[in-house]
Amino acid sequence: MILVTGGAGYIGAHTNKALNQAGYETVVVDNLVKGYEDFVKWGHFENYNFGSKDLREVFEKYDIDGVLHFGAFSSVAESVELPQKYFKNNYKNTINLLQIMREFGVNKFILSSTAAVYGNPEKVPITEDQELKPINPYGHSKFITEKALEREAAKGDFNYVALRYFNAAGCDFDCEIGELHEPETHLIPLVLDAAIGRRDSISIFGTDYNTPDGTCVRDYIHVNDLAKAHIDAYEYLCNENESNVFNLGNGKGFSVKEVIDMVKKVTGKDFPVKLDERREGDPDILIADATKIKDKLGWTPQYDLETIVESAWNWHKKIYQD
Ligand code: UDP
Repeated sequence: MILVTGGAGYIGAHTNKALNQAGYETVVVDNLVKGYEDFVKWGHFENYNFGSKDLREVFEKYDIDGVLHFGAFSSVAESVELPQKYFKNNYKNTINLLQIMREFGVNKFILSSTAAVYGNPEKVPITEDQELKPINPYGHSKFITEKALEREAAKGDFNYVALRYFNAAGCDFDCEIGELHEPETHLIPLVLDAAIGRRDSISIFGTDYNTPDGTCVRDYIHVNDLAKAHIDAYEYLCNENESNVFNLGNGKGFSVKEVIDMVKKVTGKDFPVKLDERREGDPDILIADATKIKDKLGWTPQYDLETIVESAWNWHKKIYQD
């Protein structure tokens, strides 16, 4: 049985579906602060905070072989406003989970990490061996969690994989689950809101970045590609007695302006685009070099930006139009 924390959230729910389709049994642990019980359509569900001592009850009830840890707060902007919230939930509560895993002899762990651990990278595409210099509390909370895992693995009888996500986007092709954040802060769903008429316009946060068109460049990766990488990483932990860290991205960068143009193309809708101030904590360019995971696990992303936007648009229409 695989324990999936945060399995009622966006990436966790997509991975939980993929795990069940691949024949794994899962138990989702989520306190539904950010997640949706409706998204847990596969496996078991337990409502717990992964930072609570009561989480032991889940380990007593199920025969857990490994943990996929999605549970976390993930808004860069909010982390700048409320750093303690991020360090407590993303770091301290993860330590609680690790303590309980040790107690029950569970020794396989996959962390949802982030490209935000790199800060403003010295060169792009970014390889895993670049120095980690996070520039916002969200990235910092994941950085110290990675360090805690490194120490835990050094103690022995424990292996982990940290997956550094670039920009997760897109939705389940069956539209059974999708991206739903409250409040929404991510670019693609916000632009889709403008396309569907839920907002009057979209604002570009900063046009003076050191990029070809002045807007931030990001590497958008389909959530199903991310889900598949977790299965590959879990199989790696089952077969090899080692830990590792991998970037997860497409290796291609798109500017905010290019994403907006893609949404206009896919949806056939036009809407006003406003040029706004920079948002604090945003690096200029984040593009993954994902060679390491391709070489080591044989993982390759399947979906491009157009498919990402199409799948997100289908989900958007389902929840806001049908
Ligand atoms: N962004 C923007 N307008 C918005 C939301 C986001 O210009 O309404 C920009 C944001 O500044 C960043 C990029 O879009 O450069 C991606 O932001 P998102 O929050 O989706 O992901 P992040 O890169 O912060 O994880």
